[in-house]
Amino acid sequence: PPGPDLTALEPADVAALLPRPGAESDKYRRGVVGIAAGSARYPGAAVLAVGGALRGGAGAVRYAGPADAAVIARYPEALVSTGLPHRAGRVQSWVVGPGVGDDREARERVADVLDADVPVLIDADGLRGLDPARVRARSAPTVLTPHAGEAAALLGTSRPEVEAGRLAAVRALADRFGAVALLKGSTTLVADPAGGAVRANPTGTAWLATAGSGDVLSGLIGALLAAGLTPLDAASAGAYLHGLAGTHAPVPPMASTITEALPAVWHELL
Ligand code: AMP
Ligand code: MG
Repeated sequence: PPGPDLTALEPADVAALLPRPGAESDKYRRGVVGIAAGSARYPGAAVLAVGGALRGGAGAVRYAGPADAAVIARYPEALVSTGLPHRAGRVQSWVVGPGVGDDREARERVADVLDADVPVLIDADGLRGLDPARVRARSAPTVLTPHAGEAAALLGTSRPEVEAGRLAAVRALADRFGAVALLKGSTTLVADPAGGAVRANPTGTAWLATAGSGDVLSGLIGALLAAGLTPLDAASAGAYLHGLAGTHAPVPPMASTITEALPAVWHELL
Protein backbone atom coordinates (compact mmCIF):
# COMPACT_ATOMS: atom_id res chain seq x y z
CA PRO A 1 0.00 0.00 0.00
CA PRO A 2 1.23 3.54 -0.75
CA GLY A 3 2.93 5.11 2.26
CA PRO A 4 6.05 7.16 2.92
CA ASP A 5 8.15 4.54 1.11
CA LEU A 6 5.84 4.20 -1.87
CA THR A 7 3.83 6.70 -3.92
CA ALA A 8 1.76 6.40 -7.10
CA LEU A 9 1.37 8.90 -9.94
CA GLU A 10 -2.21 10.17 -10.35
CA PRO A 11 -3.67 10.87 -13.81
CA ALA A 12 -3.35 14.63 -13.19
CA ASP A 13 0.35 14.25 -12.30
CA VAL A 14 1.01 12.43 -15.56
CA ALA A 15 -1.06 14.89 -17.59
CA ALA A 16 0.99 17.76 -16.14
CA LEU A 17 4.23 16.04 -17.13
CA LEU A 18 3.34 15.28 -20.74
CA PRO A 19 5.09 17.47 -23.30
CA ARG A 20 2.75 19.69 -25.35
CA PRO A 21 4.16 21.24 -28.49
CA GLY A 22 3.73 25.01 -28.62
CA ALA A 23 3.96 27.64 -31.32
CA GLU A 24 7.72 27.91 -30.82
CA SER A 25 8.27 24.13 -31.08
CA ASP A 26 10.21 22.47 -33.84
CA LYS A 27 11.09 18.79 -34.18
CA TYR A 28 14.52 19.25 -32.61
CA ARG A 29 13.19 21.07 -29.58
CA ARG A 30 10.43 18.49 -29.16
CA GLY A 31 13.14 15.89 -28.73
CA VAL A 32 15.19 13.62 -30.95
CA VAL A 33 15.51 10.05 -29.68
CA GLY A 34 18.28 7.69 -30.70
CA ILE A 35 17.41 3.99 -30.79
CA ALA A 36 20.27 1.45 -30.70
CA ALA A 37 18.18 -1.72 -30.59
CA GLY A 38 17.65 -4.80 -32.72
CA SER A 39 20.01 -6.90 -34.79
CA ALA A 40 19.91 -9.12 -37.85
CA ARG A 41 18.62 -11.84 -35.54
CA TYR A 42 16.09 -9.67 -33.67
CA PRO A 43 14.94 -6.92 -36.04
CA GLY A 44 11.53 -6.76 -34.37
CA ALA A 45 12.94 -5.25 -31.16
CA ALA A 46 14.22 -2.31 -33.22
CA VAL A 47 10.84 -1.79 -34.90
CA LEU A 48 8.97 -1.93 -31.59
CA ALA A 49 11.32 0.46 -29.78
CA VAL A 50 11.19 2.94 -32.68
CA GLY A 51 7.38 2.72 -32.67
CA GLY A 52 7.28 3.35 -28.92
CA ALA A 53 9.45 6.45 -29.40
CA LEU A 54 7.32 7.80 -32.27
CA ARG A 55 4.09 7.26 -30.31
CA GLY A 56 5.87 8.66 -27.28
CA GLY A 57 5.74 12.01 -29.03
CA ALA A 58 9.34 12.30 -30.24
CA GLY A 59 10.05 15.12 -32.68
CA ALA A 60 12.27 12.70 -34.59
CA VAL A 61 13.72 9.22 -34.12
CA ARG A 62 17.21 8.25 -35.25
CA TYR A 63 17.77 4.50 -35.54
CA ALA A 64 21.34 3.17 -35.51
CA GLY A 65 22.02 -0.49 -36.22
CA PRO A 66 21.68 -3.48 -38.51
CA ALA A 67 17.85 -3.62 -38.48
CA ASP A 68 17.62 -0.42 -40.55
CA ALA A 69 15.67 -2.05 -43.39
CA ALA A 70 13.02 -3.49 -41.05
CA VAL A 71 12.68 -0.14 -39.28
CA ILE A 72 12.27 1.92 -42.44
CA ALA A 73 9.80 -0.59 -43.93
CA ARG A 74 7.50 -0.12 -40.96
CA TYR A 75 8.28 3.51 -40.07
CA PRO A 76 9.23 5.80 -42.96
CA GLU A 77 9.35 8.57 -40.31
CA ALA A 78 12.57 7.15 -38.83
CA LEU A 79 16.06 8.38 -39.80
CA VAL A 80 18.16 5.24 -40.15
CA SER A 81 21.88 4.51 -40.23
CA THR A 82 23.96 1.38 -39.76
CA GLY A 83 27.16 2.64 -38.09
CA LEU A 84 27.92 3.03 -34.41
CA PRO A 85 25.34 5.14 -32.55
CA HIS A 86 27.58 8.22 -32.11
CA ARG A 87 27.72 8.55 -35.90
CA ALA A 88 23.93 8.78 -36.25
CA GLY A 89 23.78 12.51 -35.49
CA ARG A 90 22.68 14.62 -32.56
CA VAL A 91 20.01 13.20 -30.22
CA GLN A 92 18.61 14.26 -26.84
CA SER A 93 18.39 10.71 -25.48
CA TRP A 94 19.46 7.19 -26.34
CA VAL A 95 17.67 3.86 -25.88
CA VAL A 96 20.04 0.91 -26.05
CA GLY A 97 19.73 -2.82 -25.60
CA PRO A 98 16.49 -4.44 -26.80
CA GLY A 99 17.35 -7.27 -29.19
CA VAL A 100 20.99 -6.28 -29.69
CA GLY A 101 22.14 -9.80 -28.76
CA ASP A 102 25.30 -10.60 -26.84
CA ASP A 103 28.10 -10.66 -29.41
CA ARG A 104 31.05 -8.28 -29.72
CA GLU A 105 29.12 -5.93 -31.98
CA ALA A 106 26.37 -5.66 -29.38
CA ARG A 107 28.86 -4.83 -26.63
CA GLU A 108 30.44 -2.16 -28.86
CA ARG A 109 27.05 -0.55 -29.48
CA VAL A 110 26.25 -0.46 -25.78
CA ALA A 111 29.69 0.94 -24.88
CA ASP A 112 29.34 3.60 -27.58
CA VAL A 113 26.01 4.77 -26.18
CA LEU A 114 27.32 4.82 -22.60
CA ASP A 115 29.86 7.43 -23.77
CA ALA A 116 27.10 9.82 -24.90
CA ASP A 117 26.53 12.99 -22.87
CA VAL A 118 22.73 12.70 -23.00
CA PRO A 119 20.28 10.63 -20.89
CA VAL A 120 20.46 6.92 -21.75
CA LEU A 121 17.91 4.18 -21.14
CA ILE A 122 19.40 0.66 -20.97
CA ASP A 123 17.15 -2.39 -21.31
CA ALA A 124 17.24 -6.09 -22.11
CA ASP A 125 20.52 -7.31 -23.72
CA GLY A 126 22.11 -3.95 -22.88
CA LEU A 127 21.86 -4.89 -19.19
CA ARG A 128 24.01 -8.03 -19.60
CA GLY A 129 27.16 -7.73 -17.53
CA LEU A 130 26.58 -4.01 -17.04
CA ASP A 131 29.33 -2.48 -14.89
CA PRO A 132 27.98 -0.25 -12.09
CA ALA A 133 31.19 1.84 -12.08
CA ARG A 134 30.84 2.54 -15.80
CA VAL A 135 27.24 3.69 -15.33
CA ARG A 136 28.13 5.81 -12.30
CA ALA A 137 30.92 7.49 -14.28
CA ARG A 138 28.52 8.71 -17.00
CA SER A 139 28.22 12.47 -17.47
CA ALA A 140 24.42 12.35 -17.98
CA PRO A 141 21.60 10.40 -16.27
CA THR A 142 20.92 6.71 -16.86
CA VAL A 143 17.66 4.77 -16.63
CA LEU A 144 17.68 0.96 -16.23
CA THR A 145 14.50 -0.98 -17.08
CA PRO A 146 14.97 -4.62 -16.06
CA HIS A 147 12.31 -7.25 -15.44
CA ALA A 148 12.83 -9.41 -12.35
CA GLY A 149 15.18 -11.85 -14.09
CA GLU A 150 17.37 -9.07 -15.45
CA ALA A 151 17.33 -7.32 -12.08
CA ALA A 152 18.47 -10.52 -10.37
CA ALA A 153 21.42 -10.80 -12.75
CA LEU A 154 22.37 -7.15 -12.15
CA LEU A 155 22.21 -7.63 -8.37
CA GLY A 156 23.89 -11.05 -8.34
CA THR A 157 20.87 -12.68 -6.77
CA SER A 158 18.01 -14.90 -7.89
CA ARG A 159 14.71 -14.05 -9.52
CA PRO A 160 12.67 -15.42 -6.55
CA GLU A 161 14.70 -13.20 -4.20
CA VAL A 162 13.92 -10.15 -6.31
CA GLU A 163 10.23 -11.08 -6.44
CA ALA A 164 10.16 -11.54 -2.66
CA GLY A 165 11.59 -8.07 -2.04
CA ARG A 166 10.83 -5.90 -5.04
CA LEU A 167 10.98 -2.60 -3.15
CA ALA A 168 14.42 -3.39 -1.72
CA ALA A 169 15.61 -4.67 -5.11
CA VAL A 170 14.63 -1.54 -7.06
CA ARG A 171 16.25 0.66 -4.40
CA ALA A 172 19.42 -1.45 -4.47
CA LEU A 173 19.62 -1.11 -8.26
CA ALA A 174 19.23 2.67 -8.16
CA ASP A 175 21.80 2.88 -5.40
CA ARG A 176 24.37 0.55 -6.92
CA PHE A 177 24.24 2.01 -10.44
CA GLY A 178 23.53 5.64 -9.52
CA ALA A 179 20.67 5.41 -12.02
CA VAL A 180 16.90 5.60 -12.09
CA ALA A 181 15.78 1.97 -11.83
CA LEU A 182 12.45 0.78 -13.22
CA LEU A 183 11.64 -2.78 -12.13
CA LYS A 184 9.00 -4.22 -14.46
CA GLY A 185 6.27 -6.57 -13.31
CA SER A 186 2.61 -6.68 -12.39
CA THR A 187 3.29 -3.54 -10.34
CA THR A 188 6.18 -1.69 -11.91
CA LEU A 189 8.35 0.18 -9.39
CA VAL A 190 10.57 3.19 -10.12
CA ALA A 191 13.37 4.35 -7.81
CA ASP A 192 15.57 7.45 -8.01
CA PRO A 193 19.27 7.26 -7.09
CA ALA A 194 18.84 10.41 -4.97
CA GLY A 195 16.43 8.48 -2.73
CA GLY A 196 12.89 9.51 -1.86
CA ALA A 197 9.74 7.46 -2.21
CA VAL A 198 9.63 4.69 -4.79
CA ARG A 199 6.87 5.19 -7.35
CA ALA A 200 4.49 2.29 -7.93
CA ASN A 201 2.75 2.33 -11.30
CA PRO A 202 -1.05 2.06 -10.89
CA THR A 203 -1.93 1.24 -14.53
CA GLY A 204 -1.65 -1.94 -16.55
CA THR A 205 -2.95 -5.43 -17.08
CA ALA A 206 -1.40 -8.88 -17.08
CA TRP A 207 -2.02 -8.88 -20.87
CA LEU A 208 1.06 -6.66 -21.08
CA ALA A 209 3.16 -9.75 -20.45
CA THR A 210 3.64 -10.39 -24.16
CA ALA A 211 6.70 -10.54 -26.41
CA GLY A 212 8.03 -7.12 -27.34
CA SER A 213 5.97 -5.24 -24.76
CA GLY A 214 9.09 -4.06 -22.93
CA ASP A 215 10.68 -2.88 -26.19
CA VAL A 216 7.74 -0.50 -26.74
CA LEU A 217 8.15 0.79 -23.18
CA SER A 218 11.84 1.53 -23.73
CA GLY A 219 11.16 3.68 -26.81
CA LEU A 220 8.31 5.46 -25.08
CA ILE A 221 10.46 6.41 -22.09
CA GLY A 222 13.24 7.43 -24.49
CA ALA A 223 10.88 9.95 -26.10
CA LEU A 224 9.93 11.42 -22.72
CA LEU A 225 13.63 11.72 -21.80
CA ALA A 226 14.30 13.51 -25.09
CA ALA A 227 11.41 15.87 -24.36
CA GLY A 228 13.23 16.94 -21.22
CA LEU A 229 11.35 15.17 -18.43
CA THR A 230 13.57 14.24 -15.50
CA PRO A 231 14.67 10.59 -15.65
CA LEU A 232 12.39 9.73 -12.71
CA ASP A 233 9.39 11.44 -14.33
CA ALA A 234 10.12 10.00 -17.78
CA ALA A 235 10.33 6.46 -16.41
CA SER A 236 7.23 6.70 -14.24
CA ALA A 237 5.10 8.57 -16.80
CA GLY A 238 6.24 6.10 -19.47
CA ALA A 239 5.18 3.14 -17.34
CA TYR A 240 1.85 4.85 -16.69
CA LEU A 241 1.12 5.47 -20.40
CA HIS A 242 2.29 1.97 -21.36
CA GLY A 243 0.02 0.39 -18.73
CA LEU A 244 -3.00 2.39 -19.90
CA ALA A 245 -2.26 1.53 -23.53
CA GLY A 246 -2.25 -2.13 -22.49
CA THR A 247 -5.74 -1.77 -21.07
CA HIS A 248 -6.98 0.10 -24.20
CA ALA A 249 -5.48 -2.32 -26.75
CA PRO A 250 -7.74 -4.95 -28.32
CA VAL A 251 -7.60 -8.21 -26.35
CA PRO A 252 -5.36 -10.12 -26.65
CA PRO A 253 -2.89 -7.31 -27.22
CA MET A 254 0.39 -7.79 -29.03
CA ALA A 255 3.25 -5.37 -28.65
CA SER A 256 2.53 -3.39 -31.81
CA THR A 257 -1.11 -2.92 -30.79
CA ILE A 258 0.06 -1.51 -27.45
CA THR A 259 1.95 1.10 -29.51
CA GLU A 260 -1.15 1.82 -31.58
CA ALA A 261 -3.26 2.25 -28.43
CA LEU A 262 -1.03 5.10 -27.23
CA PRO A 263 -2.80 7.90 -29.16
CA ALA A 264 -6.08 7.20 -27.33
CA VAL A 265 -4.20 7.37 -24.03
CA TRP A 266 -2.65 10.74 -24.93
CA HIS A 267 -6.08 12.07 -25.92
CA GLU A 268 -7.50 10.95 -22.60
CA LEU A 269 -4.77 12.69 -20.60
CA LEU A 270 -4.03 15.88 -22.56
P1 AMP B 1 9.43 -7.29 -20.83
O1 AMP B 1 9.58 -8.30 -19.75
O2 AMP B 1 10.65 -6.49 -21.06
O3 AMP B 1 8.86 -7.83 -22.12
O4 AMP B 1 8.32 -6.24 -20.35
C1 AMP B 1 7.05 -6.72 -20.03
C2 AMP B 1 6.09 -5.59 -19.78
O5 AMP B 1 4.85 -6.16 -19.36
C3 AMP B 1 6.50 -4.64 -18.67
O6 AMP B 1 6.00 -3.35 -18.93
C4 AMP B 1 5.81 -5.25 -17.44
O7 AMP B 1 5.58 -4.32 -16.42
C5 AMP B 1 4.53 -5.76 -18.03
N1 AMP B 1 4.04 -6.93 -17.30
C6 AMP B 1 4.64 -8.14 -17.21
N2 AMP B 1 3.91 -8.98 -16.45
C7 AMP B 1 2.84 -8.28 -16.03
C8 AMP B 1 1.70 -8.59 -15.20
N3 AMP B 1 1.54 -9.80 -14.66
N4 AMP B 1 0.79 -7.60 -14.98
C9 AMP B 1 0.95 -6.39 -15.54
N5 AMP B 1 1.99 -6.05 -16.34
C10 AMP B 1 2.92 -6.97 -16.57
MG1 MG C 1 12.34 -7.05 -22.12
